[in-house]
Amino acid sequence: MVNKLGNQAFIALGSNMGIREEYLRKAIQLLKEHPHIEVCRESNIYETVPVGYVEQAAFLNMVIEVKTALSPVPLLAVTQSIELECGRTREVRFGPRTLDLDILLYAEEEMKKEGLIIPHPRMHERAFVMVPLSELVPERLLLNVHQTVKEIAQSLPDREDVKLWIPN
Ligand code: ADP
Ligand code: MG
Repeated sequence: MVNKLGNQAFIALGSNMGIREEYLRKAIQLLKEHPHIEVCRESNIYETVPVGYVEQAAFLNMVIEVKTALSPVPLLAVTQSIELECGRTREVRFGPRTLDLDILLYAEEEMKKEGLIIPHPRMHERAFVMVPLSELVPERLLLNVHQTVKEIAQSLPDREDVKLWIPN
């Protein structure tokens, strides 16, 4: 039996192309199958109308809690290979994607490397991240903004655009 225990991390999942829920489910399945990743908890799924300059379809978003023996860089390599396996191409930055996996938090780690910043540098500005994350760890303090996840989620102006999505 492989020991999957390790550090707690939170990963945001998003999809706005094709069968969106299938991509979220497939990503979770692939993470579960990884020998060094355990998926512990999943938020509800939310539907979010996209903001920004790119005209595109609505996203499904959720956040999951994992435990992993992988350190952050190898974990990112796994999430990026899952994005590719789920058909992601990178044509337009911030544009439509079958699957986006962002590492939000990794233990109490703070790191700024080329290609990997933890905590994710834009998470506290994004209601589609903070609303599902606040289901899992409402009282967690984000040190860079000195507020809890729940406080941030409740104060973001576009939180009304993040709607609970009920699967059929
Ligand atoms: P975004 O998620 O911001 O819409 P992408 O998914 O295309 O954009 O990611 C762009 C780059 O962000 C990736 O190539 C990755 O190296 C980098 N990156 C930096 N920090 C993180 C993080 N915490 N989680 C995921 N990707 C990250
Ligand atoms: Mg990303």
